[in-house]
Amino acid sequence: MHETSIIEHIIELVGEQLAQQQGPVRVTAVRLRVGPLAGVEPEALRFAFDATIPGTLLDGAQLAIEPAPLIAWCRICLAERTLDSPQRLCCPICGRPTPDVLGGKELELAWLEVVDLNETNETTHATS
Ligand SMILES: [Zn+2]
Repeated sequence: MHETSIIEHIIELVGEQLAQQQGPVRVTAVRLRVGPLAGVEPEALRFAFDATIPGTLLDGAQLAIEPAPLIAWCRICLAERTLDSPQRLCCPICGRPTPDVLGGKELELAWLEVVDLNETNETTHATS
């Protein structure tokens, strides 16, 4: 399943983030930034997350999905445009097709919320 390998990759990334932490921590929440052209359904991603995390370092963590905007370059306006729908890649200003997509394929770890098990303070770590 495609989404499962995505979640496994996210778990690896979280492991790299946690390697920079001092002391024992527990991950309580993970936020992913997902663009409309990323090729994954948020619901399928949630399902894969719940199915994959037991026994991993994300066991018990909540998943949040943050939609990333769909941005394309309009060759007519010579400007970046934010598009409403991936089904219709057209400039909202001039209506011309915009095949040059600049953003919307993101599938990345936006942030992690971890609890320091020594101090029980909640801290949020931005990763980008
Ligand atoms: Zn335009």
